[in-house]
Amino acid sequence: MNYKKALHHPIFEIVSQTAKELNLEAYVIGGFVRDYILQRGSAKDIDIVTVGDGIKLAKQVSKKLPNKPKVQVFKTYGTAMLKFDDAEIEFVGARKESYDENSRNPSVESGSLVDDQNRRDFTINALALNLDKDKFGDLLDPFNGIQDLEKKIIRTPLNPDITYSDDPLRMLRAIRFATQLGFKIENESLKAIERNNNRIKIITKERIVVELNKILESSKPSTGFLLLERTGLLNHILPELTALKGIDEVEGQRHKDNFYHTLEVVDNIAKNTDNLWLRWAALLHDIGKAPTKKFHKKIGWTFHGHEFEGSKMVYRLFKRLRLPLNDKMKFVQKMVFMSSRPIALANEEVTDSAVRRLIFDAGDYVDDLMTLCEADITTKNPKKFKKYHNNFKIVREKIVEVEERDHVRNFQPPISGEEIMETFNLQPSREIGIIKDTIKEAILEGDIPNEYEAAYQLMLKEGKRLGLKVIKVQSNKDS
Ligand code: ATP
Repeated sequence: MNYKKALHHPIFEIVSQTAKELNLEAYVIGGFVRDYILQRGSAKDIDIVTVGDGIKLAKQVSKKLPNKPKVQVFKTYGTAMLKFDDAEIEFVGARKESYDENSRNPSVESGSLVDDQNRRDFTINALALNLDKDKFGDLLDPFNGIQDLEKKIIRTPLNPDITYSDDPLRMLRAIRFATQLGFKIENESLKAIERNNNRIKIITKERIVVELNKILESSKPSTGFLLLERTGLLNHILPELTALKGIDEVEGQRHKDNFYHTLEVVDNIAKNTDNLWLRWAALLHDIGKAPTKKFHKKIGWTFHGHEFEGSKMVYRLFKRLRLPLNDKMKFVQKMVFMSSRPIALANEEVTDSAVRRLIFDAGDYVDDLMTLCEADITTKNPKKFKKYHNNFKIVREKIVEVEERDHVRNFQPPISGEEIMETFNLQPSREIGIIKDTIKEAILEGDIPNEYEAAYQLMLKEGKRLGLKVIKVQSNKDS
């Protein structure tokens, strides 16, 4: 088969010529070929494998390109990379690999194209196109990868037990590709992943997270998490999630399986947002339920305080997985912590003051919080499903209306602590906090508008109640 059409990018012609001059074989291999055949848009990452010196080829190619791009050389890996137009082109000499038990980094020696294809993770990633002038675009497919692409199968070129044990990252890659492409992992492979799951411990957290993020970023993340669970990998990586599995029954009372519920929520949210961190929040929104679960004779199953517990667990989980401990983590914590708030609203009549409090507490994240909570509606009762969605629609409308009127998002108190101190000649003290709080509460309850004059009057009234004397009458109205 010939795929000349895939090679319209000008780089291929130049690589072809240069390889000829250097008397090397060159092929384009891996994701570029796979994605072309799957028509997944034209890949910007191009991997070139050469039988011979890949670094030399890269340097020579660069000289022929109009802007002579810099060649980045990674000596340890024997690879070189350059950027041309919108593409990133990586050059590597064909290699043969042998593995050591404690590392996923093999010892490497140069080899033939077939040796190089043998070390590839999956048959669909081992497809190569010839760049030789006379065989330009000819497909080299020693493991029937094309057939696997058609049948939508993930399969390893060699014995899966060896492939996965050699480099356990491939287990995650298999699951990630199955999720992204909607493919099935061939049965033998799946069993081999299960048998080798504890090998995942030699993989760095950073690499694990790269794969988890790709699973979360796909259109149906549950596919990946179900496979992770089924193969036993999830228990190694995210035991907080496997702890949510199962339904307990006491005296005929059951609770829902929070693991499968969580996966439904993640799939739901994937339809409405590409924000990776909001998707993480969906994945983790119920993790506090395992440690807080209790059965009470009168009321049945409860998960009191699971949101607070969950938000604390987010920190520990992010730390363990070396996820960023910055504003992204704080965002996920906040979403988890507030994840039940809108539900409580949607159960009742939606009042202005409840909405004001929601905006006040969620700040700029109120829309994200609503997106999370809408995704959280997984009831199979169509009446309830409709009712909750309708109520959330009302909440969203009210958020806009209340915010336009009261400006409580990123609330700044209309009276500062300093003004309270000056008015009553106070040193820093408890009274200042009480007055500030009274004003804030009155605004959130809707007892006074979010304006200076009304807040000033309330400050005087509250001061009087606390037995304070007005020392300085001052109106900052216009400042
Ligand atoms: P994507 O860009 O979606 O991650 P890709 O297949 O291009 O897909 P890369 O990580 O860029 O993925 O890898 C390029 C190629 O290198 C793969 O197609 C595969 O042939 C090979 N490869 C990458 N990682 C491994 C691995 N751990 N074991 C074996 N082969 C691998």
